[in-house]
Amino acid sequence: MTASGAPSDLLVSEVFSAIQGEAALVGARQVFLRMTGCNIRCAYCDQPEALEKRPGPCRIERTPGRRDWDRVESPLAVESVVDAVDRLWRAMPHHSVSVTGGEPLMQSRRLVGLFPKLAELGMPLMAETNGTLVHGLEELVGWLTYVSMDVKLPSVDGERVDPSLQQRFLDVALRAGVDTWVKIVVGAHTDTDELSKAVAMVAEAAARTPGAEPVIYLQPVTPFAAVTHAPTPDDVLTLQELALWRYPHVRVVPQTHKAIGQL
Ligand code: SF4
Repeated sequence: MTASGAPSDLLVSEVFSAIQGEAALVGARQVFLRMTGCNIRCAYCDQPEALEKRPGPCRIERTPGRRDWDRVESPLAVESVVDAVDRLWRAMPHHSVSVTGGEPLMQSRRLVGLFPKLAELGMPLMAETNGTLVHGLEELVGWLTYVSMDVKLPSVDGERVDPSLQQRFLDVALRAGVDTWVKIVVGAHTDTDELSKAVAMVAEAAARTPGAEPVIYLQPVTPFAAVTHAPTPDDVLTLQELALWRYPHVRVVPQTHKAIGQL
């Protein structure tokens, strides 16, 4: 498994098998393909080493869950990524493959060469995405079984993500019929007006798409980096109530992988 420079090569930071800790597939065993690079910088981001889209070290687990890493240089050829994912996939039963990051859709053109190969091997594919790269989703949506989309609140993440971009992104996922849910990280100082607008955006997208009822997962922020406080239990109850008055499918799920000491 070696680094190379072909245009289709993928910038990857790690490949491993773990327990999904967030949102709709919480508890499911997945192969994680973590791509390098993100187009935004959330205050609470716990993947700082995956934010810059550039060549660098990559670690690949040999045995599911053992953390027995092979260390290689990224970018990786498509075939190398297929081999790394498939080796873990075949070594024990997995639910699906989570393509995460960073922001995986930053490399949509490269993933176009990878996704058909993984799909041919029978792997359901899930994109864990910040929901901002509409064109990237359009390129890949035909290969996806699941989309886990973040909707960003400036008062929590410190970024100013354009809400209309997130609305278009959600529309593309829902119209394609992909099993889609929305994750909203909430913090100790969540602006309730921002949350109301985000929930209304999801409710309107659901109303526009017959049969679509994407669940919203409110995820209390796990303190990391610039974020030092989690919301209180009262905060979380209040924020869920506010959301439920606007949309019926709102659940609260914290980052469970951190609670059980997983990657
Ligand atoms: S979108 Fe995800 S990977 Fe990018 S900065 Fe935010 S939390 Fe980190």
